[in-house]
Amino acid sequence: MAPHREGSEASVEAMVAQVEKHPISTILIIIAMQTEALPVVNKFQLIENPHSSFPKGVPWIHYHGAYKDITINLIWPGKDLTFGVDSVGTISASLVTYASIQALQPDLIINAGTAGGFKEKGAAIGDVFLVSHVAFHDRRIPIPVFDLYGVGLRQTYSTPNLLKALNLKTGKLSTGDSLDMSPHDEASIAANDATVKDMEGAAVAYVAELLKVPAIFVKAVTDIVDGEKPTAEEFLQNLAAVTATLEEVVTQVIDFISGKCLPEL
Ligand code: SAH
Repeated sequence: MAPHREGSEASVEAMVAQVEKHPISTILIIIAMQTEALPVVNKFQLIENPHSSFPKGVPWIHYHGAYKDITINLIWPGKDLTFGVDSVGTISASLVTYASIQALQPDLIINAGTAGGFKEKGAAIGDVFLVSHVAFHDRRIPIPVFDLYGVGLRQTYSTPNLLKALNLKTGKLSTGDSLDMSPHDEASIAANDATVKDMEGAAVAYVAELLKVPAIFVKAVTDIVDGEKPTAEEFLQNLAAVTATLEEVVTQVIDFISGKCLPEL
């Protein structure tokens, strides 16, 4: 990892050291789309909090509930107030991550959602990845050091026992604000060595690091980016089935987390 990472990693570790002796009690799940969120909401019988501490008028929805010894918070950024579609992308993801951490002080963040996968890197439809690193692919700043800032490579909170227990695939995630992929994006994604591609992960990681909360990324593949089918079509075709798989894996993750401290993950 580049030298400039060491300071922030050290501070995350210091924070983790404080809470590491206590079992994880509060988790924050961030999910961008309603279709992805509702299976998890239903599974854990989460209820909407009508008195969330979010600013008045924002579309962000806070679901919460208790499961075993864990308080589960799930935040869905809701439907865009102007266009009525899910508030996908890095801006909404950053804002809800910031506001939710401030309001809920979680021990751990789980960013769950769908992603495009690269078959060349071993991804197939329905695979679920526990992400090892995140980076951006649409923040090109060709000035020394700003280039690295733009890419924003971050290692995710390491959970080797979770990875092994659930037998998930692992790989790097590249994030950008477009569902499609321009030739520029394609080159950056290759430089990021990414196996999966989404529109939120690296933004959630940025805020989580800023506020020193460990974060993990569970991404289920809805479409093959380097395949034959047009992305949007393939995404919509597989969305329902893949979100069911995503819910199953999120449930397994929560079951595994229950009763454990952070370093046991
Ligand atoms: N057409 C969809 C738009 C969803 S945008 C709709 O009707 O609502 C895609 C969402 O899924 C984002 O939250 C993103 O994180 C994820 N995603 C799935 N496949 C992706 C891909 N190939 N590239 C980028 N993001 C993808």
